Amino acid sequence: MNRVRLIIFNAALGPLDYKVPKGMKVEYGSVVVAPLGPRQIIGIVWEEERLPANPVPEAKLRPIIEALPVPPLGRELRRLIEWTADYYCASLASVARMVLSSGGAMRGPTTMTEYRLSGSEPERMTPQRAVAMDALQNEQATIRELAEMASVSDAVLRGLVNQGVLEPVEVNIDRPYPKARADHDQPKLSDDQQQVADRLTDAVKARQFAPFLLDGVTGSGKTETYFEPVAAALRDNRQVLVLLPEIALTEAFLRRFENRFGAAPIVWHSSLKSTERRRAWRAIASGEAQVVVGARSALFLPYANLGLIVVDEAHEISFKQDEGVRYNARDVAVMRARFEKFPIILASATPALESLQMAESGIYERLELPSRFGGATMPTISTIDLTQHPPEKGRWLAPELVEALQDRLEKGEQSLLFLNRRGYAPLTLCRNCGYRFECPNCSAWLVEHRFTRRLACHHCGHETAQPDKCPDCGEPDCLVACGPGVERIADEVAEIMPEARVAVATSDTLNSPEKAAEFVAQAEAKAIDVIVGTQLVTKGFHFPDLTLVGVVDADLGLEGGDLRAAERTYQQVAQVAGRAGRGSKPGEVFIQTRHTDAPVIAALADGDRDAFYEAETDARRHAGAPPFGRWAAIIVSSEDEAEAKEAARAIGGTRPNIQDVMILGPAPAPLSLLRGRYRYRLLINARRSAQVQDIIRSWLGALDFPRGVRVSVDIDPYSF
Ligand code: ADP
Ligand code: ZN
Repeated sequence: MNRVRLIIFNAALGPLDYKVPKGMKVEYGSVVVAPLGPRQIIGIVWEEERLPANPVPEAKLRPIIEALPVPPLGRELRRLIEWTADYYCASLASVARMVLSSGGAMRGPTTMTEYRLSGSEPERMTPQRAVAMDALQNEQATIRELAEMASVSDAVLRGLVNQGVLEPVEVNIDRPYPKARADHDQPKLSDDQQQVADRLTDAVKARQFAPFLLDGVTGSGKTETYFEPVAAALRDNRQVLVLLPEIALTEAFLRRFENRFGAAPIVWHSSLKSTERRRAWRAIASGEAQVVVGARSALFLPYANLGLIVVDEAHEISFKQDEGVRYNARDVAVMRARFEKFPIILASATPALESLQMAESGIYERLELPSRFGGATMPTISTIDLTQHPPEKGRWLAPELVEALQDRLEKGEQSLLFLNRRGYAPLTLCRNCGYRFECPNCSAWLVEHRFTRRLACHHCGHETAQPDKCPDCGEPDCLVACGPGVERIADEVAEIMPEARVAVATSDTLNSPEKAAEFVAQAEAKAIDVIVGTQLVTKGFHFPDLTLVGVVDADLGLEGGDLRAAERTYQQVAQVAGRAGRGSKPGEVFIQTRHTDAPVIAALADGDRDAFYEAETDARRHAGAPPFGRWAAIIVSSEDEAEAKEAARAIGGTRPNIQDVMILGPAPAPLSLLRGRYRYRLLINARRSAQVQDIIRSWLGALDFPRGVRVSVDIDPYSF
C-alpha cells in the first residue's frame, strides 16, 4: 500500500489520506502515527472504500511517521467498530479510541517508571510535601497518578524525587501473568448444572456464534456452571472475557476464579494504574492474556483470539454507558460474538425483558437452572403495608421488620437492609426559612453524608462541608435532614439494637478493592450482624448465615417515572431477596411498601416471576416500548441556558414527519442542569423496524449549532 486512509484520533475530523513511505509496512488495522498540522496524531489504517472519500491530490499527501509495533486491529474488530458507530450514531474515531484506550500503550520501551516513598525525609518540609507524603504512604505509581491521589501538583512531587524522598521503581510491563489451568480444581456439578455446562462447553468447541441466556435463580450456581465453558476455552487456547457490572464486587469473584483455575484473571476497569493498563492491554493484544474480567470498557479491547464472552448479571443497567459513546455493552458483546464467531452467555436471575423476548423468539438459546444449589430453598417473601403498619415517628423500619431483626440477632444470624440511597439524608432544609441545599451545577439536592460531615451531589461530585447554620437566614441549629439514606437506617438499627454490629455497604464505604475484600471477609467471618446497603449488595454476595432481608422502601424506584421503572424494581428486589437463605437455614424477606397492590410488588410477594413479566410485556406492547418498539433520545446541552433552548427548538422545528415515528419534545431533561450544562431532550418512539438511526442522522446532519452546544444521541436509552 502506498496511499492509505486513516481514522484519526484527537481531532473532530473525518478520515484523512496519507502516503506510506517506502520500506514502511502497514496493513488494514495498523495503528500509525501521522502528522496533522504541526502535531502528531494517532490513526488506524482503514479500508478506504468503507470511509467517505477524501480528495487530496497525490502530490499533497503527507507521509505517515511511524507504524506502531502492535498487532493490527483484526477485520472483525473493525467491523464491530463500524457497527457500533453506526448503531449508536457515534463517530468511528470515538469508538476506535475505546479500543486503544491506553493511548500510547504500544509505543516505546517495555518498562515504565513508577515512584514510591523511600523512607528518607526532605531537607525542608512544606505543608504540600507533608500532605503528599501522608497521602502516598503505601502507594506506587507514576508521578501524574501520585499527584492525583495526593491532590498536589506534579511539581511538588518532582521536588520530592530530586531530594530522594520519592524513589524510582522500574516496572516491566511485559512481565507474564500467572497461568490459569482448566483443571485446577473442578467442582462436582449437580445434574442440572452439568447439563447446562455440557451444552455450553460444546458450543465453545464448535467455534460458532451461539447466544445463550443462562436463566438461573439466585444461588443456583450460575458461576460454577459457566466456569466449565471457560475451562473449555482455556483448553482450546482461546481467550475469555467475563463482563461484570460492578468493579467493587470483583473481589469475591476473583477469589472464586482463583480457587477454580489456580490463578487470578486479568482485571480491566477504568481506574487501573497506567502500568497495569499497559501491561494488560499488551497481553490482551498479543494473546497472552487468558481470561479478562472487566467492566464494560473491557469489551472493546483488541483480543487476539477471543473464544467466549460471559456477561454476568446481564440485566444490570451499568452495562449501559451514559456519556461519550452511549452504547450498551451487553448488546455490543452479542455483536462481537457474532462477528468473531464464538458463543456468548448472558447470565441472570432476572433477565431484561429484551433478553427474554430474544429467547422466546428462538434467537437466544435459553438454559435454565430452576433451583438453588445444594438443596437451599428460595426465601419466603412478604410485604409490609406501611399505610397500615407505619414505623414509629421519625423512624423508617416497621415494627414487624424490627422484630425480625431482633430475632436474627438473638439467633446469631445475619440481616441485610436494602435502600438504594447513599448517604444520611437525600435532602437538607432549613426549618426556619425553608432553604434547601441544592447543587450549583445540577438540578439536584445535595445529599448529607454524616460520616464525613459533608453535603455531596451524586451527579457531579460537588461537595461542601456541612454548615452549622443556614446560609440563607443565618439561623443556627435549624437544619433538618429529610428522608432516609443508608447511613440513617444504620443509625436507626444501632438505636434499636445497640449491641448489633452494623456495616454500611455503599460505593462510599467500599470504594477500593481492599475495602470491598475486607467487608466480604468480615461478613463471612460473621463479624457483622446487620448490613445496610445500596444496590451494591444486591448481587454477587454469598453469605450462608444471612437469613433476613428487609427492603426499606420498595416504592423508591417506581416513583422515578422512567421507562423501565417496574422492571428495575422487580430486578433489584428479587436480586436482594436472593441474598437470603443461601445456606442451610431458610431465608425470609420483608418488603416495605405503600403500594401492596402494584403489579410488581404483588408479583414479588407471590414469587411469581412469570406474572410480572407477563404484565410488563403487556404494558410495553401497549406503549410501543422495547422490545416491541424502540426509543431514542436526542439530548441538547449548553452552559448557556438560552442557547440550549434555542438549539432544542431548532431541532424540534425541523422534525421529520414519518409514519409510525413519534417525536416528543423538546422539553427540559429530567436533570435539566447537569455538571453546569442546561439540558433539553427530544424523544423518539418508533416501531421496531424503523430506521431510527438514519432518520436521526439526516435530520441532525442538516443542522448547524453554535460551538457551545452539544447534541448527543442515545439509542435504546435507559433513563431519559
Ligand atoms: P448464583 O450466581 O446463581 O446466584 P452462585 O454461583 O453464587 O449462584 O452459587 C451459590 C453458591 O453455591 C456458591 O457459594 C457456590 O460456590 C456454591 N456452588 C454452586 N455450585 C456448586 C457446585 N457444583 N459445587 C460446589 N459448590 C457450588
Ligand atoms: Zn451536581
